[in-house]
Amino acid sequence: MFASEVLDDVNEPHEVTDWDEALCRDASGAMTLLFFSDEIRDIRQAKLVCLGCRLIDPCLAGALERREPAGVWGGELFANGRILTQKRKRGRPPKHRPEESIQLTA
Ligand code: SF4
Repeated sequence: MFASEVLDDVNEPHEVTDWDEALCRDASGAMTLLFFSDEIRDIRQAKLVCLGCRLIDPCLAGALERREPAGVWGGELFANGRILTQKRKRGRPPKHRPEESIQLTA
């Protein structure tokens, strides 16, 4: 690559994402605990924070591209590089499902 090509690339307008505007970015680290928690309530809270964040789209796209191994990114929960649509509670699943969770089909 010639120097002129490098300069052309540098002078191209690039979309700038200011991660300082991320709502999860705090100095205390409290958000880190929330966004990487195993507790369903915390995960729900983290997703709600993301919904108010203007960086949700680039954040989700980046997490998908990096195949994030864990945590809430861009309003989604990640596990092993994929979006988890449901998070089970900790521990063993019950042997018998509670009555109210059994759905009848017509
Ligand atoms: S979308 Fe969520 S995880 Fe991504 S920067 Fe915003 S608050 Fe943080």
